[in-house]
Amino acid sequence: MTDRKTELAANLAKVEERITAACAAAGRAREEVTLIVVTKTYPASDVRILSGLGVRHVAENRDQDAAPKAADCADLPLTWHFVGQLQTNKVRSVVGYADVVQSVDRSRLVTALSKEAVRAGREVGCLIQVALDAGASGRGDRGGVAPAGIEELADLVAGAPGLRLGGLMTVAPLTGEYAGREQAAFERLMDLSTDLRRAHPAATMVSAGMSADLEQAVAAGATHVRVGTAVLGVRPRLG
Ligand SMILES: *Cc1c(COP(=O)(O)O)cnc(C)c1O
Repeated sequence: MTDRKTELAANLAKVEERITAACAAAGRAREEVTLIVVTKTYPASDVRILSGLGVRHVAENRDQDAAPKAADCADLPLTWHFVGQLQTNKVRSVVGYADVVQSVDRSRLVTALSKEAVRAGREVGCLIQVALDAGASGRGDRGGVAPAGIEELADLVAGAPGLRLGGLMTVAPLTGEYAGREQAAFERLMDLSTDLRRAHPAATMVSAGMSADLEQAVAAGATHVRVGTAVLGVRPRLG
């Protein structure tokens, strides 16, 4: 094994242990939680190593970095998730490689995603990104729609050609009533997911939890955790 492969294998094993322990503590089966490795700022060579180590889901947050990386790795059996704030002028590119867009937070984005998915002949999974710290604008600083806006967006996605409503995603808020209360935030997301599934029973994905708070997310009931730093190392810059 190369040094990098040894390092990634060790990190991955630690994260796997954490997920397994969190599932056991919550009385959940390990298969209920899918690990998504967030490879942003790291090279395609790392994605290739991770794939060789059995990773099946990767996530990126900037189209400029993700598009060439996904092209480099097109031969690998990976599901690509897009988790960053998405401008409509990047949608055509993102639809070219993303299987799931987790950051759907406004109607214009739904319209653009649908149009490009149909054009590309692809079906794109969509998660509504929820901002639990949304201000009066109804939107979060780091993207996301306030809980009150979920239903309208979900109906829009569900009726849009080329799109499949997958569920909900959130990032634990740094401000507002949930600051420092990750588990409470993720439990709130679960309640919102229960509401959503009344109208959209197939929208079962709940994407929550990162390197620092994956245990709280698993305890709350998350189906997908998004882990970057704990697998790849501390990112050289904010990404
Ligand atoms: C970067 C990022 C992650 C991973 O964060 P880590 O703390 O590195 O595990 C998860 N979700 C989103 C939306 C991100 O942008």
